[in-house]
Amino acid sequence: MSNRTFTMIKPDATSKGHTGAILDQMIKAGFSVKAMKWIQLSEAQAGAFYAVHKERPFYGELVEFMCSGPIVAAILEKENAVADFRTLIGATNFKDAAEGTIRKKYATSIGENAVHGSDSDENAKIEADFFFSGLERF
Ligand code: ATP
Ligand code: MG
Repeated sequence: MSNRTFTMIKPDATSKGHTGAILDQMIKAGFSVKAMKWIQLSEAQAGAFYAVHKERPFYGELVEFMCSGPIVAAILEKENAVADFRTLIGATNFKDAAEGTIRKKYATSIGENAVHGSDSDENAKIEADFFFSGLERF
């Protein structure tokens, strides 16, 4: 899975109509889509996805936000996918994100930061498996 990463376009970005522009930026940066779905998570599903952050003070806020509206989940492929995608999206806090990155352009707070990107090959696989069956990817 080292050439694949997992992403979500978060509810803040889908609700503001940024989905198309964000997908376009990902594709223009060389990522190809290997699976995609547009869904709204339940509170239980968002809680399970972010279980790794359960002890963090922002967990409740994060779960509430992530199930507040639809998201786009996708598996993306490119050489060096995980690291290159983290570069493309920018720092967690958009104020620290480099100019031109997706978060710099579309995030409005540290929590409502437009997109998710896996932080390791191992987590990319876990996260992709959380959303997609074998039939739903190629
Ligand atoms: P992501 O996992 O979404 O790609 P990340 O790896 O840059 O983001 P994490 O530390 O994994 O950052 O945090 C997961 C998400 O939790 C962040 O993207 C953000 O939406 C939210 N978050 C992180 N820190 C805070 C905070 N201090 N206050 C509110 N929300 C936060
Ligand atoms: Mg993370």
